[in-house]
Amino acid sequence: MNMIDPFGRTISYLRVSVTDRCDFRCTYCMAEDMAFLPKKDLLSLEELDRLTTVFVEKGVKKLRLTGGEPLVRKNIMHLVRQISRHLESGALEELTLTTNGSQLSRFAAELADCGVKRINVSLDTLDPQKFHAITRWGNLDRVMAGIDAAQAAGLKVKINAVALKGFNDAELPELMRWAHGRGMDLTVIETMPMGEIDEDRTDQYLPLSLVRAGLERQFTLADIPYKTGGPARYVEVAETGGRLGFITPMTHNFCESCNRVRLTCTGTLYMCLGQDDAADLRAPLRASEGNELVSDAIDEAIGRKPKGHDFIIDRNTSRPAVSRHMSVTGG
Ligand code: SAM
Repeated sequence: MNMIDPFGRTISYLRVSVTDRCDFRCTYCMAEDMAFLPKKDLLSLEELDRLTTVFVEKGVKKLRLTGGEPLVRKNIMHLVRQISRHLESGALEELTLTTNGSQLSRFAAELADCGVKRINVSLDTLDPQKFHAITRWGNLDRVMAGIDAAQAAGLKVKINAVALKGFNDAELPELMRWAHGRGMDLTVIETMPMGEIDEDRTDQYLPLSLVRAGLERQFTLADIPYKTGGPARYVEVAETGGRLGFITPMTHNFCESCNRVRLTCTGTLYMCLGQDDAADLRAPLRASEGNELVSDAIDEAIGRKPKGHDFIIDRNTSRPAVSRHMSVTGG
């Protein structure tokens, strides 16, 4: 039953964007005035559960809920609770989520109770004013309270920061010391050309080769083989004793080991974050009560998973590689 793509890669990791809506408007992610997917096209939570269950039956071992902001989807904990039965049965090895942290105070304990062991929290700066500027609508105190609640509930937290030129480059050492001081890994991410935003991505783009070189002037970084099933490559930092991850879709793509596909909240399956090709799973899901049609549609889609993406950010390439925003397929 395993899903194997034309390049021999086994697909064992599904990311599900449960909503493309968000309570933040990060400047590198969204335009301020966004057109969201029509509500009438959304899969219900029951449909999302049914579809994710089909993927689990087809060999998915790791499932990440993302968005938009996954914790702003109405009744999201109902879906988390439903999916957690696959953890109990052993069919699923990990259920996790990527969140901006704004709703964690409310949901952390219940997430832990549903078998979630670790979560990623996106945080690009520790400065309240800069945080408000980059997220447009966010409140740093609320996110900090969310991180406290997650750690108190026993969730392992990893901080994800997008490296942004002239915004947080100078602050990354402090962000790392802070994260490591609280027992959290930090992963830095290169900004990707996805969707039209209100700014020029060339102004924001910071290659992580430069970030690493900068950090190496202050810290001792040792490459380690640590893996979490995602695309990050890790180093251990001697001075802090913590782990630092690098996600480098621009300077070093990681497509050869890609084990992921991405489902949107309207049931569209994207086989690659950086390509437009997609498969509609909503129609086959709704066409019959059995899962055969949707299972066939998934097989057909995996059969055309592309080799990789080819993101480019430079002054000559004004259009994003894909027109959809990151918030449609999630991080
Ligand atoms: N709302 C959740 C959050 O903030 O983590 C989940 C969705 S958000 C789209 C997932 C991750 O994608 C965040 O870490 C965000 O910083 C990152 N992201 C958004 N747009 C990006 C872009 N164009 N390039 C790189 N990372 C991006």
